[in-house]
Formats: sequence, C-alpha cells, structure tokens
Amino acid sequence: MKKLIAYCGLDCEKCDAYIATINIDNNLREKTAKLWSKLNNTPITPEMINCTGCRTEGPKTFFCSNMCQIRKCAKSKNFETCRDCAELSIYQIVSQIHKNNKDALKNLK
Ligand code: SF4
Ligand code: SF4
Repeated sequence: MKKLIAYCGLDCEKCDAYIATINIDNNLREKTAKLWSKLNNTPITPEMINCTGCRTEGPKTFFCSNMCQIRKCAKSKNFETCRDCAELSIYQIVSQIHKNNKDALKNLK
C-alpha cells in the first residue's frame, strides 16, 4: 500500500495541505486555510496547514492528528489501513467518505 494513502483510502498526495507543505507554498496554505475555515465553520490559520500525510512520519494537521476517529481507530488496531478491517463495509464514517470519493475505496483495494 502506497504510504501516502490514508487509513480511509484518501490520497494525501492530492491534498492541498500536503502539496503546500512539501512545496513550502504559503499562498496555497493561505488559500487552503480560507477554504477549510469556511467548510468547517471554524477558524483555521495558514500556519495550521502543515501536513506530510496521514500514515507517514512528520507534521499533521490538527484534525488528522487529534480528531480523526478513523485514523485513531485504525492505528489502535495496528492496521495498515482500514482495508484490514472486517467492519469496513458497514462502518458509517468510512462509507460516507467512499460515497463522496470513489477513488478512496479503489485506493484501499
Ligand atoms: S492526513 Fe494530511 S495530507 Fe492527508 S488528507 Fe489529512 S490533511 Fe491532507
Ligand atoms: S472500524 Fe475499521 S473501517 Fe472503521 S475506522 Fe476503524 S479500522 Fe477503519
């Protein structure tokens, strides 16, 4: 499994937080912070847009390191990704991600 595929199957390589971090792109950090603040209805600053991926070493966004229940769950079970989980097809939060992003499910296969 490619290291930049998150536990849920999302591709961190396509995430603006990842792209801004590896390219040290402060304009993209600013743009992403504005968009995510709006989408999440919470203040997110450009400094918070710092992430090298869900399953790799290095910084994570606050959400991914502290709040993402999927990441917490899969890590606690020592799974490589949610693909290893017998509950994958019935787990509501992951199913919702896969409904909205068909590639995420494909990435886990
Ligand atoms: S773990 Fe980081 S790079 Fe991956 S989706 Fe979340 S914010 Fe983006
Ligand atoms: S229960 Fe399974 S599918 Fe749901 S987050 Fe945990 S490891 Fe992933």
